[in-house]
Amino acid sequence: MKDGSKSEKLITPFGGALVNRTLAGKEREEWLEKAGHYPSIQLSPRSLCDLDLIACGGFSPLARFMGKADYDCVLSSMRLADGTLFPIPITLTVNAEALPPGAEFLALRDEHNNLIAVMRLEEVFAWDPKEEARQVLATSDPRHPLVSEMITWGNRCVSGELKVLNPPRYHDFADLRRTPAEVRSLLEKMGHANVVAFQTRNPLHRIHEELTKRAAAEVGGSLLIHPVVGMTKPGDVDHYTRVRIYRALVEKYYDSNSTLLSLLPLAMRMAGPREALWHAIIRRNYGATHFIVGRDHAGPGKDSAGKPFYGPYDAQELVARFAAETGVTPVPFRTLVYLEEKKEYVEESQIPAGAKVAAISGTEVREEYLAKGKPLPEWFTRKETAEILSRTHPPRHQQGFCLWFTGLSGAGKSTTADVLTSLLLERGKQITVLDGDVVRMHLSKGLGFSREDRDTNILRIGFVAGEIVRHQGVALCAAVSPYRAARNEARQMVGEDNFITVYVDTPIAVCEQRDSKGMYARARRGEIKGFTGVDDPYEPPVDPEITLDTVRHTPEENARKIVAYLEERGFLIR
Ligand code: ADP
Ligand code: ADP
Repeated sequence: MKDGSKSEKLITPFGGALVNRTLAGKEREEWLEKAGHYPSIQLSPRSLCDLDLIACGGFSPLARFMGKADYDCVLSSMRLADGTLFPIPITLTVNAEALPPGAEFLALRDEHNNLIAVMRLEEVFAWDPKEEARQVLATSDPRHPLVSEMITWGNRCVSGELKVLNPPRYHDFADLRRTPAEVRSLLEKMGHANVVAFQTRNPLHRIHEELTKRAAAEVGGSLLIHPVVGMTKPGDVDHYTRVRIYRALVEKYYDSNSTLLSLLPLAMRMAGPREALWHAIIRRNYGATHFIVGRDHAGPGKDSAGKPFYGPYDAQELVARFAAETGVTPVPFRTLVYLEEKKEYVEESQIPAGAKVAAISGTEVREEYLAKGKPLPEWFTRKETAEILSRTHPPRHQQGFCLWFTGLSGAGKSTTADVLTSLLLERGKQITVLDGDVVRMHLSKGLGFSREDRDTNILRIGFVAGEIVRHQGVALCAAVSPYRAARNEARQMVGEDNFITVYVDTPIAVCEQRDSKGMYARARRGEIKGFTGVDDPYEPPVDPEITLDTVRHTPEENARKIVAYLEERGFLIR
């Protein structure tokens, strides 16, 4: 433990020097002109984050998306072909069909078609998501968020020299977004050679404040609070909310002479131990000599069998094992607990016998406090954090939700939704009904009943429902929606927590007997083709939140059953 005195030099970047692939001045102008003539490919938000960090040197010494030699070595041995440690593959993947034949250069564009960079196309090689998942993530379980995402990335990798002409620009928190060179210059001014970095994708609570301050004291240096604002785990608290919290806390509770808050546009992989090691290398590029590694660092939660993907201390061990090589020493995040009587945090190993400890888990924060509108206690989180969180996470009875009715034509979706609308209006809710037949007259006019058209219809309804729910409204959607995959996509668009599947489970014989619109008769006569339940499949939902029986129960009874469910979940106050 040493005390850093002023004007000490920072550690060098990993591999010696910071990469900079961003062009400026005349050279940039020339390439901008040429780029207009090159065929384009579009970068996903993830690839855009990767490109951003390659361009500014966050991934130094990596200066391009990996070619095959580097890629193969990284998969099997966590090293680039020249032996440099680099545990995570950074590739630009595309679909073979998207690659223009014979291209020498590619213009890389973002999702809005803005030009970002030019790549000299030096290599194209086959890419297999299964193999990468097996070697890097050590799993093929689709519960791993990256595994389920990777299958959409394509089947080829492209690589070659990069010239970045317009690095991605972000307009939010612009003053906190800094390149490695900019972070280094600020840390340099703080004057300590030792710098401990803290990675986070969660709101900062008192426990994190304690541990970051203790870590800085322990290494006798500066503290770099370095939250990820690129991509984190789906379902995390959004970065706008988080950064407002970080900023408020750093301003008020940290020593400004030795603490720097800076945002990192990293796209996380949730790859556990390998990711922790990668995080350490990235932080060295920003000037860190020490890195806080907690329990289950960058862990993706539990697999399909309910087991954690990685051992709780695997990440700490891996970072420690390579500390000499990375130059970054892990500072283990020991579990702290709050002693109620002494009103302080202590390490778990130092709890006096019989002492009362207090703890609130992440799930409890969401379910027991935020969802119920109960304020988080001050021993757990600063009042600034509690306030920001409660503003962006209103209690559940103020949140919007989507009730998604699915079932055969004539099952009773519209009839039940109609009764429910009255009951919810009576309770003061704002309702939008997105009924299949009505949507098809307006939003989806012209769409037919081919599988593709039906999926398009469902995704349009899902999109609109998502917007309504985000603005705290109630969307009642009633469409046959026969295909499970499309319903699941709609669920993702709205958000898992606020999407309620209502399966109107009426047997086909009953629907056919009702035949309120005379459709079944026409379908049986062959006048309508591809009619759900007659000559097109209906895939029942696997785990619907609510299943309705319209044979034994009236529409009123079923609507009241839904109201009871909403009360139980807290979407309606009893
Ligand atoms: P969908 O919207 O599922 O195509 P509709 O609600 O338009 O179905 O039609 C259902 C038909 O069945 C209506 O004519 C309705 O009066 C009749 N029906 C009979 N019993 C019930 C019930 N318990 N719940 C809903 N509808 C019922
Ligand atoms: P989807 O989920 O398939 O888009 P909608 O609820 O939007 O279904 O529309 C289905 C309604 O359209 C049914 O209630 C039925 O009256 C009518 N319809 C017309 N052709 C078909 C068909 N081939 N299959 C199912 N419903 C059809």
